[in-house]
Amino acid sequence: MRVTGTFAETRAACRGTVALVPTMGFFHEGHLALMEAARELADTVVVSLFVNPLQFGDPGDLARYPRDLERDATLAEAVGADLLFAPPPEEVYPAPPAVRVSLPALSTELEGAYRPGHLDGVAVVVAKLYAGLQPDLAFFGRKDAQQLAVVSRLAGDLSFPVRVIGCPTVREQDGLALSSRNVFLAPEERSAALSLSRGLLAAADAAEAGERSGAALEGVVAAEMEAAGLAAAEYVALADAAAATRIPTLDCVAFLAVAARVGAVRLIDNVFLDPAGPADRGVRLTRPSLLYAKGN
Ligand code: AMP
Repeated sequence: MRVTGTFAETRAACRGTVALVPTMGFFHEGHLALMEAARELADTVVVSLFVNPLQFGDPGDLARYPRDLERDATLAEAVGADLLFAPPPEEVYPAPPAVRVSLPALSTELEGAYRPGHLDGVAVVVAKLYAGLQPDLAFFGRKDAQQLAVVSRLAGDLSFPVRVIGCPTVREQDGLALSSRNVFLAPEERSAALSLSRGLLAAADAAEAGERSGAALEGVVAAEMEAAGLAAAEYVALADAAAATRIPTLDCVAFLAVAARVGAVRLIDNVFLDPAGPADRGVRLTRPSLLYAKGN
């Protein structure tokens, strides 16, 4: 596994079909599943690792973000990634960018309402990765459903010749969606946090049984959280999957998303719902995630 630090060096090391997996590191099985999916379809798998300051609103969150390049290189190599592109900040932002990349129609609601500027920061760095690495394919997690809508539309609107592929959310055995931030949950917070996935999975059952009302589906999640003693969610919302805007009725491919603070940790999760077919509830690990392995 080669670790690269510049766009030019990374591009020069690619051959054949190139798949990009953008990440902020501290890998867990959610990241590794993206790399495995990329490995299936491409000759060269490039994993980018960059903790992008532009997408953090809170400097404390940025400073606390877990980082371990050596651990990440070992994990990425084990699933067959070819290159780990881990640029220093000055490679990505030689100067503070004057350009703005913004998709207001897709980034005003949901995360956009609670993390102003976050999705614009994502759009800038992903546009730079598309332009600087010129991948044929780019893999993103459905866990960040609104982000997936943004980076897909970004590619189309700016004619980046990349196909964006969304992959299912990877969950712990008990249903908690994997997130690098889960390591900050105290045990009692972690068990309260399980009400998010429990609610979403119950709502997926309801949708598959014919429930089409957004309010009813959202209510299933809110009730599960309330029963677990969690304060109200920041939002529980049924949204059009491509537009990332709220819809009153499940009448297109959609996601039901929740965001909530559990202690000091902000969690997001969702299920993808399709009125014409089964829900995507994500996939469960059969053993505890790497996040809980000794030494992390
Ligand atoms: P991050 O390092 O948090 O920026 O995430 C990098 C990529 O991994 C993004 O496309 C995320 O959507 C994806 N990802 C994060 N957590 C999960 C998960 N639990 N399952 C699947 N993909 C995930």
